[in-house]
Amino acid sequence: RPILGIESSCDDSAAALVRGREVLASVVVGQGRLHAAFGGVVPEIAARAHAETLDAVVRRALGEAGMDLRGVGAVAVTSGPGLIGGVLAGVMTAKGIAAGTGLPMIGVNHLAGHALTPRLTDGLAFPYLMLLVSGGHCQFLIVRGPDAFTRLGGTIDDAPGEAFDKVARILGLPQPGGPSVEAASADGDPARFAFPRPLLDRPGCDMSFSGLKTAVLRQRDALVAEQGGLWRQDRADLCAGFQRAVRDVLAEKARRALAIYMEDAPGEPAMAVAGGVAANGPLRAALQDVAAAAGARFCAPPLALCTDNAAMIAFAGQELMASGHRSGLDLAARPRWPLDAGAAPMLGYGR
Ligand code: ATP
Ligand code: FE
Repeated sequence: RPILGIESSCDDSAAALVRGREVLASVVVGQGRLHAAFGGVVPEIAARAHAETLDAVVRRALGEAGMDLRGVGAVAVTSGPGLIGGVLAGVMTAKGIAAGTGLPMIGVNHLAGHALTPRLTDGLAFPYLMLLVSGGHCQFLIVRGPDAFTRLGGTIDDAPGEAFDKVARILGLPQPGGPSVEAASADGDPARFAFPRPLLDRPGCDMSFSGLKTAVLRQRDALVAEQGGLWRQDRADLCAGFQRAVRDVLAEKARRALAIYMEDAPGEPAMAVAGGVAANGPLRAALQDVAAAAGARFCAPPLALCTDNAAMIAFAGQELMASGHRSGLDLAARPRWPLDAGAAPMLGYGR
C-alpha cells in the first residue's frame, strides 16, 4: 500500500502518496507571498501557516490519489533538520494520523529525502555521488544506503542559492534570485569583471560563496560611484561573471568529489544533483561535462522533485522502513540533524 509523506521544514507545506517508484499524488503549497514583504522566511509565520495548511494539503493529496487514509500503508514525515516550528507542525500531524489509524510512522531526515530522490526518479543503485545544492544547503555526499551517507565537503558559509538571492537583491532583480540572475546573465560578458574562485586553491571539496557575493556588491558600488548608476549591460555582466564563478567552483569541486567517490565505487559510477540551484542551465551543463569526462552517469531529477516536496519524504520513508526502521509516537522534531554521523549509521532513526 502507498506511503503518505508530509514535509514542512521550510516554507512549503507538502503531502504526497508514493508506492514503489510511482508518485500517485504530490501537493506542494508554497508560502512565498506570506514572507515576501520580509525579504526572507519568517519562522513564526511559517510555523503558523504549516499548522493551518497541513490538514488540507494531506486531504488534497489523498483526493488526487483517489483514496482515503484506509488505503494508506504508513506515514513518513520530515522530522528535521529545518525551522523547528514547521517541523513540529508536520510531526504533530503525522502523529495524529498514526495515533488515530494505528498506521506505522517513520521520521525522515529532509536531506536524506533530497539525497534519495535519484532512486525514485531514475532507479540509481547505491552507492552514488550526490551534490545537494539549494537555498539552504550545499554538500557532496556519497549515498551508500537509505541511512548511510558520507559527506565529502560542503560550503563553509552561504549556500549558492542564498548567494544568487543576495546578488539579485544587490542588483535590484526580482526574487527568487536564481532564475532572474540566470536570465540577466544571458547577454552578459562573464569575463568583464574578475570575480574570485574561493577555496579553489585549497585541496578537498569544501566551498565558500559569501565572498563572491561581497565581490559583486563592491563592484556594483564602484560602478555606481563612477557612473552614478547601473546600466542594463552592467547588470548582465555582473550576473554573468558571478554565475560563471559559482559554476567554476562547483564544477571543479564536483570533479574532485567524483574522483574520491570513484576510487572505491563498485559497479557503474553515477553523479546526481538536487536542490533548486540544480535548475541553473550553465551549471547543469558543466556538471554533466564533469560526469562525462570521468565516465560516470549523470542524473538530474525533474525540478519539481529537486526542490522541496513530500514525494521524496514518502519515498525515503519507504526505503527506511524496508531496511527495518520505525519511529514511535515519541518521535522528536530536530532543528539540526547532520546526515553524516561519521562511520556510525545515521543518528536518530527509531526514536
Ligand atoms: P532547502 O531546500 O535547502 O531548505 P530552499 O527551500 O531555499 O532550501 P530550494 O527550494 O531547493 O531550496 O531552492 C531554492 C533556491 O534555488 C533559491 O535560492 C533560488 O534562488 C535557487 N534557484 C532556483 N532556480 C535557480 C536557477 N535557475 N539558478 C540558480 N539558482 C536557482
Ligand atoms: Fe530542501
